[in-house]
Amino acid sequence: TTHRTIALITGANKGIGRAAAEQLAALGMTVLVGSRDVRRGEEAAADLRAAGGDAHAVTLDVTDPATAHAAAREVEERFGRLDVLINNAGITGSGQVAPQDALDQVPSSVDLDMVRSVFETNVFGVIAVINAMLPLLRNSRAPRIVNVSSHAASLVINSDPDGPLSALPTSAAYTPSKTALSALTVQYANELRKEGVLVNAVAPGFVETDSNNHSGNLTPAQGAAVLVRLATIGTDGPTGGFFSADGPVPW
Ligand code: NDP
Repeated sequence: TTHRTIALITGANKGIGRAAAEQLAALGMTVLVGSRDVRRGEEAAADLRAAGGDAHAVTLDVTDPATAHAAAREVEERFGRLDVLINNAGITGSGQVAPQDALDQVPSSVDLDMVRSVFETNVFGVIAVINAMLPLLRNSRAPRIVNVSSHAASLVINSDPDGPLSALPTSAAYTPSKTALSALTVQYANELRKEGVLVNAVAPGFVETDSNNHSGNLTPAQGAAVLVRLATIGTDGPTGGFFSADGPVPW
């Protein structure tokens, strides 16, 4: 067994997840680089090791429960526990367009199969991964789960006609998938509070990644900072909360 903190990040081969992996590795954690593509995961893990980090690729497609269970077995055999799980993998459903161009998400004309695939990854995938990893998290002395949500998840912000999101087109896919992720965060936090498993949602801000064709105004490192903050809270830290770099986000 190792004294290092063991952290698994889904979708860590690029974007915000990869930046979070770099930051956690720099803090001295053992970082398990979740990637649905073996080669992309191995390349990212090799880059982290070249920078001095302790990183290992773990093949994990969040929409394929068999890979989640295989990943859990691998972590069990290697480390016997998991301290931090960051559910970062996510898709917009709109291809590589900026959110403000995502007209294909307008509720009245949305393609239901697209909605299903977005929920499959952003919501059902999170349930599958948490449930596969929970036995290992329960072996940790300071277990933490971080769900990567979005300001777009906020019903408070969305329902304000003068709010910052009102200028954007409406969405029946990505936005409600993140709202559902917020709801799940509260339910898991409530179930696991007695066991000391801290479960929080975070909003990274508008980050330049492939998911928005690099139109975001924050770097992946800046966006990842709030993931790292909630991944490193003490055992007396918050649970069932929703945070951005600026503090709590209204649900
Ligand atoms: P990227 O598209 O850069 O990265 C997404 C990551 O998720 C990739 O590693 C991708 O893998 C992975 N992924 C997608 N589907 C699956 C799957 N089924 N199983 C495993 N991994 C998968 O996006 P971002 O870094 O921007 O997004 C990361 C998270 O941050 C997402 O949850 C997103 O919704 C959220 N977010 C992003 C914002 C932004 O402005 N960028 C704003 C608010 C929230 P692959 O390389 O194989 O495609």
